Amino acid sequence: MNIIMAKNAGFCFGVRRAVDTVYEQIKKNDGSPIYTYGLIIHNMEVVKDLKEKGVIVLDNEDELRAVTKGTVIIRAHGAAKKIHRILASQNLKVIDATCPYVRRIHQIVEKESRDGKRIIIIGNNGHPEVEGITGWAEGEVFVAESEADAVILAEKIKENACIVSQTTFNYNKLKKLVDIFTEKCYNGTIVNTICNATEERQVETGLIAKEVDVMIVIGDIHSSNTAKLVEISRKECANTYFVQTLKDLPLALPETTTLIGITAGASTPNNIIEEIQKYVRTNF
Ligand code: SF4
Repeated sequence: MNIIMAKNAGFCFGVRRAVDTVYEQIKKNDGSPIYTYGLIIHNMEVVKDLKEKGVIVLDNEDELRAVTKGTVIIRAHGAAKKIHRILASQNLKVIDATCPYVRRIHQIVEKESRDGKRIIIIGNNGHPEVEGITGWAEGEVFVAESEADAVILAEKIKENACIVSQTTFNYNKLKKLVDIFTEKCYNGTIVNTICNATEERQVETGLIAKEVDVMIVIGDIHSSNTAKLVEISRKECANTYFVQTLKDLPLALPETTTLIGITAGASTPNNIIEEIQKYVRTNF
């Protein structure tokens, strides 16, 4: 079987940095507890391994407030300003692994909202990165997830706003939503904050999916950037399969399959990608 392996598959810079940070802390640890604020990565295989090594996940503010000693690591998605304040007030050791690209959005949102702009985040409502970004706005903040949301918001907010995007948002979808705002005489600031890693991965996924008979997208069920790759791939290749681990293979592939494409979300560890790639090469 011939395979096209995506060059941009797997951990992006920000996720690798955050995961490495946790493993470094485990290595250096003097026995005091290590926490992550939220799941460090949307991949249950990695989360399970960290749990076995003693890392505790804090799911919410209340759990964070109950911590009295140890190290708290902030994940690549970042956290709201309020969370940083709580951490500072509790005298805990804080390691901020917020991806610099996400941090840049926090800074834009903080500055623009301080200057009186209303903030519009184009992203998925309830996603931790979006929640974190929301938490840096000092005034009104809105999330537009769909074209319908954009139409309603564009009517409501005609000016004096700043638009940013979730780093992992679908690039084409972002363009459509931004068009809706600009068509409604929107004259605020628009900053495309989709990160290059995401854009490159999405573009590459679409190009590979166009060429192959079958496309395999590897990632965790909770990973929104993987879900977006599946969505992009399905538009180009009807035989797109989403798999989490090797257990989800073998697949019943169409008999005419001669070329398979493989890609993976930003939170998919290399060992899982390699295992699946090897299996596909030898068994299909
Ligand atoms: Fe950072 Fe981009 Fe990775 Fe998000 S996708 S963690 S912004 S490198």
